[in-house]
Amino acid sequence: MRPGDNLENCIFCKIAAKQIPSKAIYEDDDLIAFHDINPAAPIHFLIVPKQHIPTLADCTEAHAALLGKMALLAPRLAQEQGCGYQLDEQGQASGGYKTIFNVGPDGGQEVYHLHMHVIGGPKPWRGQR
Ligand code: 5GP
Repeated sequence: MRPGDNLENCIFCKIAAKQIPSKAIYEDDDLIAFHDINPAAPIHFLIVPKQHIPTLADCTEAHAALLGKMALLAPRLAQEQGCGYQLDEQGQASGGYKTIFNVGPDGGQEVYHLHMHVIGGPKPWRGQR
């Protein structure tokens, strides 16, 4: 069996189905977003499709709209969570965050259900130079 093939054991399917709790910050018909249980930074949440797709490498053209929706949700939720990217009137930039898809063993993927990490907040934090 390949990683992510066992849907019955998928933690993010269970979170999406409310079979196990999470600190949710967003939900619609296609996506759920919730705080990471082991945050790498002051703000760390995950944007997760309800559909079970093991990795980014399993996505096809058929998933383009879903991936676009995930990407567009990141800045909106980052703003709401307090790490939005800002430009002041002088064009000075502040805030911001990382968006990460870990893919496969060398990518450090632990949960084989597609998800985008959104990581930000005041520095320093793990992995942030
Ligand atoms: P990956 O390495 O697969 O990209 O990241 C999986 C992330 O899911 C990790 O940052 C981990 O802390 C988080 N995670 C794993 N299990 C749970 C859980 O049960 N609840 C929540 N909220 N996050 C989880």
